Amino acid sequence: MEIALADRVGKLPPYLFAALRKKIADKRAAGADVITLGIGDPDFPTPDPIIDELCRSVRDAADINRHRYGCDAPVPDFAQEIKSFYKRRYGVTLADDQVAPTMGSKDAIVKFCMGILNPGDVGIAPLPGYPTYNIGHTFCSACTYYVPLHKEKKFLLDFDEIPSEVRQAAKILWINYPNNPTTATADLDFFKRAIEFGRENNILIAHDSAYSENSFDGYKAPSILEVDGATDVAVEFFSLSKGFNMTGWRCGCVVGNASAVKALKLVKDNVDNGTLRAVQFAAAKALSLAEELTPKINEVYKRRRDMVCDALAAAGWPVEKPKATIYVWAPVPEKYKGSSLAFAEDLLEKAGVVITPGRGYGATGEGFYRISLTYPDDVLKTAMERIVALGKS
Ligand SMILES: *Cc1c(COP(=O)(O)O)cnc(C)c1O
Repeated sequence: MEIALADRVGKLPPYLFAALRKKIADKRAAGADVITLGIGDPDFPTPDPIIDELCRSVRDAADINRHRYGCDAPVPDFAQEIKSFYKRRYGVTLADDQVAPTMGSKDAIVKFCMGILNPGDVGIAPLPGYPTYNIGHTFCSACTYYVPLHKEKKFLLDFDEIPSEVRQAAKILWINYPNNPTTATADLDFFKRAIEFGRENNILIAHDSAYSENSFDGYKAPSILEVDGATDVAVEFFSLSKGFNMTGWRCGCVVGNASAVKALKLVKDNVDNGTLRAVQFAAAKALSLAEELTPKINEVYKRRRDMVCDALAAAGWPVEKPKATIYVWAPVPEKYKGSSLAFAEDLLEKAGVVITPGRGYGATGEGFYRISLTYPDDVLKTAMERIVALGKS
């Protein structure tokens, strides 16, 4: 028997990285030496104090709740540490009902959509952008209106580009700074404008701050909740994945508007039953040591960023060094006339290097490609030599 797919699955765009994985596997099976710089998934280990806390708590026989559902037996320390971290890091005071622990932001984005969107509702998302906002909308039979991000506007979403019909129809608007894939950063004035837009149009502003802790050269990304009155119209999706090298651990939080936080909790209580307590203890430890742990991680990405950007500049393709994220977003070499797909294909075929073509993030990502810095220095170095050689040939 062949089971027919549900419409919501049939309607999904192909998962960008699934297609990529298959191509790479085929090339490798054929004996090719392929270097992938495609995926943003930290390659070096989670810091020891976090691992130690996981091991301690999972073995703690005195904790009679250690095996239990994370929602029925939540770790109060985790919620406390989220509040304490937001206070120290951003000067933001959160009330108990403004915090919900999550199993990472990807999961939380979709569940959050299920908590607030009805069929036919409209959500606004940036293009190029992280695909999961649209996936959340699609699973709720809601529609996505895409707002283009332009290089000339430093890839900051221009609220004036959103037509009035869309403003009237939309229930939620997603933004993401520091941005994946463009590496753009936003200042507090941008977030003020976002809050104003949400207030004027009665639209919830959802800020995905997955890269807030991945920054360099003294830059510190702000939280949207630093804006006065932000919690009236905004929520923020914070994640430990990228900032603490914890992608596989699945932990983060949603903070901000209490009714929105409640909508997410309602879905979670009925679907996932929460994160293992030991992971919550470890996440609490990570946040409590953030000031000590994240600079060491960022040192590695900064070194790699400099190496990649310097190699591009030496080849005659200068890029401004990104202040944040774990990526470099570079213009496609001239000889490919702006076609990121043609460049990506040639790179894989002739040089054995995988990058993410900007086109994969939508039409307005065209002309660029993304290099992920989550690969060892020597691998990155070899890949850059190959990229430069091909682009120059
Ligand atoms: C990686 C990433 C996420 C997902 O992070 P998890 O917390 O691991 O699910 C969310 N948003 C953006 C923009 C990302 O790049």
